[in-house]
Amino acid sequence: MKIVTKQQHIKGVAKAWYNRYKLPTYYKSIQAPEWEEREGEEGRGEVYNKLKALENPTVEQIDEIIGDSRWTRLECSECRLDSPALVYLGGFHMCGACLRKMADEYDQHVLASEGGTV
Ligand SMILES: [Zn+2]
Repeated sequence: MKIVTKQQHIKGVAKAWYNRYKLPTYYKSIQAPEWEEREGEEGRGEVYNKLKALENPTVEQIDEIIGDSRWTRLECSECRLDSPALVYLGGFHMCGACLRKMADEYDQHVLASEGGTV
């Protein structure tokens, strides 16, 4: 379990972009592109260079370079809202409000049904 803040998340966007779209070097031997490209979009290598050049990236700067907010959102697995921080639990990412709600439900339903004191 770990907590990831929005600031930590957006600092990792350039690296995540690289890991997602940079093609392995062995493809270069057959004159294939360095980046996995998509027709009609700006070159992903160009986007990466712009992302990498940001010293203290902001959400707005990254969204403008990429063209949408998919890479800067911290989306809660439960409520789907963009959150200032998430708790990573295995494959789930949960916001504070959802965690508190679950803890309350746990107290109310599970412990109460066992006759325990909360
Ligand atoms: Zn949530």
